[in-house]
Amino acid sequence: MWNLFDIAIIGGGPAGLSAALVLGRARRFVALFDEAKPRNRVSLASHGFLTRDGTPPAAMRKMAHDELAAYPSVRIRGSRVEEVAREPDGGFRLTDAAGESWRAARLLLAAGLKELLPEIPGLYDFYGRSLFCCAYCDGWELRDRPLVLIAGNDHTFHLAKTVYNWSKDLLVCTNGYDSLEPEEERALRERGIRVDRREIGGFVGEDGQLSAVRFADGGEAACAGGFVAERLRQAAPFAERLGCAMTPYGGIETDGAGRTSVPGVYAAGDATCIMPAQLIVAAADGTRAAIGINEDMTDEAFA
Ligand SMILES: Cc1cc2nc3c(=O)[nH]c(=O)nc-3n(C[C@H](O)[C@H](O)[C@H](O)COP(=O)(O)OP(=O)(O)OC[C@H]3O[C@@H](n4cnc5c(N)ncnc54)[C@H](O)[C@@H]3O)c2cc1C
Repeated sequence: MWNLFDIAIIGGGPAGLSAALVLGRARRFVALFDEAKPRNRVSLASHGFLTRDGTPPAAMRKMAHDELAAYPSVRIRGSRVEEVAREPDGGFRLTDAAGESWRAARLLLAAGLKELLPEIPGLYDFYGRSLFCCAYCDGWELRDRPLVLIAGNDHTFHLAKTVYNWSKDLLVCTNGYDSLEPEEERALRERGIRVDRREIGGFVGEDGQLSAVRFADGGEAACAGGFVAERLRQAAPFAERLGCAMTPYGGIETDGAGRTSVPGVYAAGDATCIMPAQLIVAAADGTRAAIGINEDMTDEAFA
């Protein structure tokens, strides 16, 4: 089956959904493809999104779908896009996992990022329940508790400095990612923050509630939650495949209105590595890209 849309959006997180809303209201024909595996799907509640603080991620998505249902030119397809090909007329052909194809004049990449967590047995039993990756998202819920901070990238000092605002009882586990400079470690120890360089072998706790980290040597350190540092990469390969310029942090480079270096291809949300990576920021970025797309389509119509 072949269909022609003004815009195909890959990704139905806050960035893609927000773009679909603005474009639907601008009377554009939009096809939004969403595999529905957003970064925050392990979380029980999303925080910090004004008017939606504490709402489960799936409930926020449902509210967005309900709102979009008012705009008949927006179609949501719950499938994974496998392939994007450039058409001779400059448009795009998208093929999903079921082998169906769609055509669109423009493409918005809003597929987000995928995280790589340190490989520690049992980590996913606690991730999203009492182990998190972002203090701004979940620090309030863990305030004043004894916390473990698990290194997983080169920003251990930054993680410790940040979380210290929420709890002073911190244990930093480098777990093989020893990026702490001597003066950084001194600054941590001066504030009573402990640093342990042993390898973590697992976790202790029940129903997602962490009570201790277990080291590979058999030792344990009590804690009541914590944060784990992640490494991030693009969730979908299309920006690289289409030849979009990327930022030094692995995000899709845009001009601030969603335009990438490839004509007709736009990007929004986490996939652009906008900082900070937050739901409300991704939603705003989706709006910005939608208006960029609509402005370009309007200019083209009057050229
Ligand atoms: C554990 C955790 C908790 C978090 N908690 C909070 C919080 O409380 N508050 C907050 O502000 N931020 C939070 N965040 C950050 C927030 O989740 C992200 O900043 C936000 O989801 C980014 O939105 P996005 O639309 O860019 O991408 P996403 O929300 O990741 O959405 C991208 C969508 O694209 C889909 N997709 C990917 N590839 C394809 C494909 N090929 N075809 C079709 N669909 C595809 C994905 O399945 C996904 O549904 C949290 C992050 C994590 C990891």
